[in-house]
Amino acid sequence: MGEAKRARRLREHLLTSCPHCVFCGGVELATTIDHVPPRVMFDARHRPKGMEFSACGACNDGSRKAELVAGMMARLFPDPAPGLLENEQDAIFRHVNNNIPGLLEELQPNVRQKVLFNAQRSQMPRGAAGVLNVGGPILNDAMMRFGAKLGMALFYHDLGKILPPDGAVFVRWYSNYDAFTDGLPTEVLSLMGQPSSLEQGRWTVANQFQFGRVIPLERTMAAHMVTFRQSFGILTFAAEHHWHMDRAPQDHVFRPGCLRTGTH
Ligand SMILES: [Zn+2]
Repeated sequence: MGEAKRARRLREHLLTSCPHCVFCGGVELATTIDHVPPRVMFDARHRPKGMEFSACGACNDGSRKAELVAGMMARLFPDPAPGLLENEQDAIFRHVNNNIPGLLEELQPNVRQKVLFNAQRSQMPRGAAGVLNVGGPILNDAMMRFGAKLGMALFYHDLGKILPPDGAVFVRWYSNYDAFTDGLPTEVLSLMGQPSSLEQGRWTVANQFQFGRVIPLERTMAAHMVTFRQSFGILTFAAEHHWHMDRAPQDHVFRPGCLRTGTH
Protein backbone atom coordinates (compact mmCIF):
# COMPACT_ATOMS: atom_id res chain seq x y z
CA MET A 1 0.00 0.00 0.00
CA GLY A 2 1.40 3.42 -0.94
CA GLU A 3 2.05 6.19 1.57
CA ALA A 4 -0.81 8.37 0.28
CA LYS A 5 -3.26 5.51 0.46
CA ARG A 6 -2.11 4.61 3.96
CA ALA A 7 -2.53 8.22 5.09
CA ARG A 8 -6.05 8.31 3.60
CA ARG A 9 -6.97 5.06 5.39
CA LEU A 10 -5.69 6.41 8.71
CA ARG A 11 -7.64 9.62 8.22
CA GLU A 12 -10.85 7.75 7.40
CA HIS A 13 -10.39 5.45 10.36
CA LEU A 14 -9.77 8.31 12.79
CA LEU A 15 -12.61 10.45 11.52
CA THR A 16 -14.95 7.47 11.79
CA SER A 17 -13.91 6.53 15.33
CA CYS A 18 -13.90 10.18 16.47
CA PRO A 19 -15.98 12.34 14.10
CA HIS A 20 -15.70 15.50 16.23
CA CYS A 21 -12.82 17.85 16.88
CA VAL A 22 -11.14 17.06 20.22
CA PHE A 23 -9.97 20.68 20.67
CA CYS A 24 -13.25 22.59 20.72
CA GLY A 25 -15.37 20.55 23.08
CA GLY A 26 -16.69 18.03 20.55
CA VAL A 27 -19.13 20.53 19.05
CA GLU A 28 -17.56 20.79 15.58
CA LEU A 29 -17.18 18.05 13.02
CA ALA A 30 -13.54 17.18 12.40
CA THR A 31 -12.17 17.62 8.90
CA THR A 32 -8.45 17.05 9.46
CA ILE A 33 -6.01 14.85 11.36
CA ASP A 34 -3.75 16.65 13.76
CA HIS A 35 -0.47 15.12 14.95
CA VAL A 36 0.12 15.90 18.62
CA PRO A 37 2.95 16.52 19.24
CA PRO A 38 3.43 17.89 15.72
CA ARG A 39 6.20 16.72 13.41
CA VAL A 40 8.09 19.99 13.87
CA MET A 41 9.06 18.83 17.39
CA PHE A 42 11.08 15.86 16.08
CA ASP A 43 14.44 15.42 14.40
CA ALA A 44 14.01 15.63 10.63
CA ARG A 45 10.22 15.87 11.22
CA HIS A 46 10.33 12.12 11.69
CA ARG A 47 8.04 10.60 14.29
CA PRO A 48 6.42 7.21 14.93
CA LYS A 49 2.73 6.85 14.22
CA GLY A 50 0.17 7.10 16.99
CA MET A 51 -1.21 10.17 18.74
CA GLU A 52 -3.11 11.51 15.76
CA PHE A 53 -6.32 13.34 16.63
CA SER A 54 -9.48 14.47 14.88
CA ALA A 55 -9.57 18.24 14.49
CA CYS A 56 -11.60 20.91 12.75
CA GLY A 57 -9.80 23.23 10.34
CA ALA A 58 -10.05 26.25 12.65
CA CYS A 59 -8.39 24.53 15.64
CA ASN A 60 -5.74 23.05 13.39
CA ASP A 61 -4.92 26.45 11.81
CA GLY A 62 -5.24 28.31 15.09
CA SER A 63 -2.44 26.35 16.74
CA ARG A 64 0.09 26.45 13.91
CA LYS A 65 2.12 29.42 15.17
CA ALA A 66 2.23 28.09 18.73
CA GLU A 67 3.54 24.78 17.37
CA LEU A 68 6.25 26.53 15.39
CA VAL A 69 7.42 28.38 18.50
CA ALA A 70 7.38 25.15 20.54
CA GLY A 71 9.34 23.43 17.75
CA MET A 72 12.01 26.07 18.04
CA MET A 73 12.09 25.92 21.84
CA ALA A 74 12.37 22.11 21.73
CA ARG A 75 15.76 22.47 20.06
CA LEU A 76 17.45 24.63 22.63
CA PHE A 77 19.23 21.77 24.37
CA PRO A 78 21.07 19.59 23.70
CA ASP A 79 22.45 21.11 20.51
CA PRO A 80 21.39 19.34 17.33
CA ALA A 81 23.68 16.96 15.47
CA PRO A 82 25.77 18.81 12.88
CA GLY A 83 24.63 18.63 9.29
CA LEU A 84 21.02 17.85 8.58
CA LEU A 85 19.63 18.71 11.99
CA GLU A 86 21.63 21.91 12.28
CA ASN A 87 20.19 23.05 8.95
CA GLU A 88 16.78 22.12 10.19
CA GLN A 89 17.25 24.24 13.30
CA ASP A 90 18.34 27.21 11.18
CA ALA A 91 15.26 26.78 9.00
CA ILE A 92 12.97 26.79 12.04
CA PHE A 93 14.59 29.96 13.40
CA ARG A 94 14.18 31.64 10.00
CA HIS A 95 10.57 30.54 9.85
CA VAL A 96 9.95 31.94 13.34
CA ASN A 97 11.63 35.19 12.39
CA ASN A 98 9.37 35.54 9.34
CA ASN A 99 6.12 34.48 10.99
CA ILE A 100 6.27 35.55 14.63
CA PRO A 101 7.39 39.17 14.62
CA GLY A 102 9.12 40.32 17.79
CA LEU A 103 9.77 36.89 19.30
CA LEU A 104 13.51 36.58 18.65
CA GLU A 105 14.04 40.11 20.01
CA GLU A 106 11.93 39.28 23.05
CA LEU A 107 14.14 36.25 23.81
CA GLN A 108 17.29 38.34 24.19
CA PRO A 109 18.34 38.21 27.86
CA ASN A 110 18.77 41.41 29.83
CA VAL A 111 21.92 42.20 31.80
CA ARG A 112 20.48 40.90 35.08
CA GLN A 113 19.57 37.55 33.48
CA LYS A 114 23.07 37.19 32.02
CA VAL A 115 24.72 37.95 35.34
CA LEU A 116 22.49 35.48 37.18
CA PHE A 117 23.16 32.78 34.59
CA ASN A 118 26.92 33.21 34.90
CA ALA A 119 26.69 33.05 38.69
CA GLN A 120 24.85 29.72 38.39
CA ARG A 121 27.19 28.22 35.80
CA SER A 122 28.14 25.30 38.02
CA GLN A 123 24.49 24.13 38.14
CA MET A 124 24.18 24.14 34.35
CA PRO A 125 24.95 21.09 32.21
CA ARG A 126 28.05 21.13 30.06
CA GLY A 127 27.34 22.64 26.69
CA ALA A 128 24.72 25.10 27.94
CA ALA A 129 25.81 28.06 25.88
CA GLY A 130 23.77 30.85 27.34
CA VAL A 131 20.48 32.05 28.68
CA LEU A 132 17.32 33.40 27.07
CA ASN A 133 14.65 35.69 28.41
CA VAL A 134 11.66 33.34 28.65
CA GLY A 135 9.43 35.77 30.50
CA GLY A 136 8.06 37.67 27.51
CA PRO A 137 4.41 37.71 26.42
CA ILE A 138 4.83 36.43 22.85
CA LEU A 139 6.72 33.31 23.97
CA ASN A 140 4.45 32.64 26.92
CA ASP A 141 1.24 32.93 24.95
CA ALA A 142 2.58 30.50 22.33
CA MET A 143 3.93 27.98 24.84
CA MET A 144 0.77 27.95 26.91
CA ARG A 145 -1.48 27.66 23.86
CA PHE A 146 0.70 24.74 22.73
CA GLY A 147 0.29 23.28 26.22
CA ALA A 148 -3.49 23.69 26.11
CA LYS A 149 -3.55 21.70 22.88
CA LEU A 150 -1.33 19.00 24.39
CA GLY A 151 -3.55 18.82 27.46
CA MET A 152 -6.73 18.37 25.40
CA ALA A 153 -5.08 15.77 23.15
CA LEU A 154 -3.70 13.78 26.09
CA PHE A 155 -7.06 13.94 27.88
CA TYR A 156 -8.63 12.29 24.84
CA HIS A 157 -5.71 9.89 24.44
CA ASP A 158 -5.85 8.60 28.02
CA LEU A 159 -9.56 8.89 28.86
CA GLY A 160 -11.08 8.09 25.45
CA LYS A 161 -13.42 11.09 25.54
CA ILE A 162 -13.31 14.68 24.35
CA LEU A 163 -12.79 17.40 26.94
CA PRO A 164 -16.32 18.93 26.97
CA PRO A 165 -17.20 22.62 26.44
CA ASP A 166 -17.62 22.98 30.21
CA GLY A 167 -14.06 21.75 30.79
CA ALA A 168 -10.77 23.60 31.05
CA VAL A 169 -7.02 23.03 30.93
CA PHE A 170 -4.56 24.62 33.31
CA VAL A 171 -1.09 24.98 31.78
CA ARG A 172 2.34 25.74 33.21
CA TRP A 173 5.51 25.43 31.25
CA TYR A 174 9.05 25.03 32.55
CA SER A 175 12.23 26.00 30.79
CA ASN A 176 15.32 23.85 31.16
CA TYR A 177 16.61 26.65 33.35
CA ASP A 178 13.90 25.67 35.87
CA ALA A 179 15.01 22.03 35.58
CA PHE A 180 18.67 22.85 36.22
CA THR A 181 17.88 25.14 39.15
CA ASP A 182 15.38 22.96 41.06
CA GLY A 183 12.41 24.89 39.73
CA LEU A 184 10.31 21.83 38.74
CA PRO A 185 7.20 20.68 40.63
CA THR A 186 8.89 17.55 41.98
CA GLU A 187 5.91 16.46 44.17
CA VAL A 188 3.70 16.28 41.08
CA LEU A 189 6.37 14.57 39.03
CA SER A 190 6.90 11.89 41.65
CA LEU A 191 3.25 10.79 41.23
CA MET A 192 3.56 10.24 37.51
CA GLY A 193 5.37 6.91 37.32
CA GLN A 194 7.18 5.63 34.26
CA PRO A 195 6.98 8.07 31.35
CA SER A 196 5.61 7.06 27.93
CA SER A 197 6.70 8.19 24.49
CA LEU A 198 5.72 7.53 20.89
CA GLU A 199 6.78 4.09 19.77
CA GLN A 200 6.45 2.06 16.64
CA GLY A 201 7.96 -1.41 16.97
CA ARG A 202 11.48 -0.87 18.29
CA TRP A 203 11.58 2.74 17.19
CA THR A 204 11.10 5.17 20.05
CA VAL A 205 11.57 8.93 20.28
CA ALA A 206 11.87 8.94 24.09
CA ASN A 207 15.04 11.06 23.75
CA GLN A 208 12.88 13.81 22.23
CA PHE A 209 9.44 13.44 23.81
CA GLN A 210 8.17 11.86 27.03
CA PHE A 211 5.05 12.20 29.09
CA GLY A 212 3.86 11.02 32.47
CA ARG A 213 0.32 11.11 33.78
CA VAL A 214 -1.85 11.08 36.88
CA ILE A 215 -5.47 10.02 36.33
CA PRO A 216 -7.79 9.92 39.34
CA LEU A 217 -10.19 6.98 39.56
CA GLU A 218 -13.30 8.94 38.68
CA ARG A 219 -11.73 9.67 35.26
CA THR A 220 -13.03 13.20 34.93
CA MET A 221 -9.62 14.82 35.00
CA ALA A 222 -6.04 14.16 34.00
CA ALA A 223 -2.68 15.70 34.79
CA HIS A 224 0.25 15.28 32.40
CA MET A 225 3.86 16.33 32.43
CA VAL A 226 5.34 16.42 28.96
CA THR A 227 9.02 17.02 28.24
CA PHE A 228 10.77 17.74 24.96
CA ARG A 229 14.45 16.80 24.86
CA GLN A 230 16.15 18.65 27.70
CA SER A 231 14.65 21.88 26.41
CA PHE A 232 11.35 22.37 28.19
CA GLY A 233 8.50 20.71 30.03
CA ILE A 234 4.78 21.40 30.15
CA LEU A 235 2.46 20.53 32.99
CA THR A 236 -1.20 20.28 32.02
CA PHE A 237 -4.22 19.66 34.19
CA ALA A 238 -7.44 19.06 32.26
CA ALA A 239 -10.80 18.70 34.00
CA GLU A 240 -14.35 18.20 32.72
CA HIS A 241 -15.61 21.02 34.92
CA HIS A 242 -13.86 24.35 34.69
CA TRP A 243 -14.77 25.30 38.26
CA HIS A 244 -11.91 23.07 39.40
CA MET A 245 -9.70 25.89 38.17
CA ASP A 246 -11.57 28.85 39.54
CA ARG A 247 -8.76 29.59 41.99
CA ALA A 248 -5.94 29.08 39.51
CA PRO A 249 -4.35 32.14 37.85
CA GLN A 250 -6.75 32.67 34.95
CA ASP A 251 -4.07 33.54 32.40
CA HIS A 252 -2.97 29.88 32.72
CA VAL A 253 -6.46 28.45 32.14
CA PHE A 254 -7.74 27.59 28.67
CA ARG A 255 -11.17 26.41 27.57
CA PRO A 256 -12.00 24.10 24.67
CA GLY A 257 -12.25 26.21 21.52
CA CYS A 258 -9.39 28.51 22.59
CA LEU A 259 -7.28 27.48 19.59
CA ARG A 260 -9.86 28.55 17.03
CA THR A 261 -10.61 31.86 18.69
CA GLY A 262 -7.09 32.77 19.85
CA THR A 263 -8.46 33.55 23.32
CA HIS A 264 -8.43 31.66 26.62
ZN1 LIG B 1 -12.04 22.38 16.70
